[in-house]
Amino acid sequence: MTLLTGAKVVTPGGVLDPGRVLVRDGLIAQVGRGGLDLDLDLDLDLDLDLGLDPGRAESAERAERVDLTGAWLLPGFVDLHMHGGGGHDVAASAADMAGAVAFHQAHGTTRTLVSLVTAPVARLAEQLGWVAALTAAGPGSDGQVVGAHLEGPFLAAERRGAQPAEHLRRPDRAVFADLEAAAAGALRVLTVAPELPGAAAVVAAALEAGVVAAAGHTDATYAQAGAAFAAGITLTTHVFNGMRPLHHREPGTAGAALDAGVACELINDGVHVHPALLRLVAAEPERLVLVTDAVDAAGAGDGEYVLGGHPVRVRDGQARLVTGGALAGSTLTMDQAVRRAVAAGLPIEVAAAAAATNPARVLGLDDRCGAIAPGLDADLVVLDAELAVTAVMARGRWVGGRGAPRSGGG
Ligand SMILES: [Zn+2]
Repeated sequence: MTLLTGAKVVTPGGVLDPGRVLVRDGLIAQVGRGGLDLDLDLDLDLDLDLGLDPGRAESAERAERVDLTGAWLLPGFVDLHMHGGGGHDVAASAADMAGAVAFHQAHGTTRTLVSLVTAPVARLAEQLGWVAALTAAGPGSDGQVVGAHLEGPFLAAERRGAQPAEHLRRPDRAVFADLEAAAAGALRVLTVAPELPGAAAVVAAALEAGVVAAAGHTDATYAQAGAAFAAGITLTTHVFNGMRPLHHREPGTAGAALDAGVACELINDGVHVHPALLRLVAAEPERLVLVTDAVDAAGAGDGEYVLGGHPVRVRDGQARLVTGGALAGSTLTMDQAVRRAVAAGLPIEVAAAAAATNPARVLGLDDRCGAIAPGLDADLVVLDAELAVTAVMARGRWVGGRGAPRSGGG
């Protein structure tokens, strides 16, 4: 058992300041108010609430106590959109995929999808096999990798951004079936341009297979996108980016998404989307989903990289295709996205929900993770007063390479 005390604990019901969280068997066993000075009360509570047998070896007194006074405690982040990090491109090799996952875990991401940019179908099938292996076993096998997000190949050429045009395809049920089979159950999100011929059939196949369908890299009009949301698309891939711009007479996919109330991924790096639109999306807090869309350059510095087979140059943290200059993903980590959201004026509980609770709900994982609440997995991020990550707990274990915060005794 681990007892975390003294932090400002961000829960779905508000911030407990100070709060305490009891972790047992990898789960959040109890959440309440109080710091270290309330030990006596707490032990009483524990005995009552947990029904502890006084003679049992695992008594309240044996809990490792960790004093987090002055820190923030947020739910572990859930990233729906991640292509790489720490110098690792998930499309390069299975080892790089695992490396990117580990990089982001150190920044607070305790659950992630692995996002695959458009590539030849055989190549995507191979990469989906790596995701399936990571989802089932290997580094990050404790449930960190939830599955794959296929960002293509069924995308609109005119809104492809940095996706390689030569490998885009018309939506095709048979191709989708092949990719879905290659993922062996690990395919969780499919981004598709819903206005393309054949898209409706692919979306229907995805929904049948239990895959979340997302609208993205799309030139859909407001009417086309609205029809797609009515037909079961529940997510918008990086809202405002890779879609018809929001215009007051033709609101496009972004306008349709906001109108329909579907979940909206947003790349909050200060480059992809103006903070004013972040606030606008967050006006309905449960629809905002912070994602990184991170590429291998995240955490690896400026320089020359490759995305989808095309050269990318990173300057001042901005990743752009060398040819044409399109934004090529971001160098964000989820902790940065949260910091920027708070700096832009969002309450920290809204930022935490957008980084954890809402994406967990999109994936249907909200009964397992995404919030600091009893019964959920003990996925936790400790941040200092400046919202920099100091420790990460996944399924009750300290991870992330920085180790546990200093223990308050035990
Ligand atoms: Zn992407």
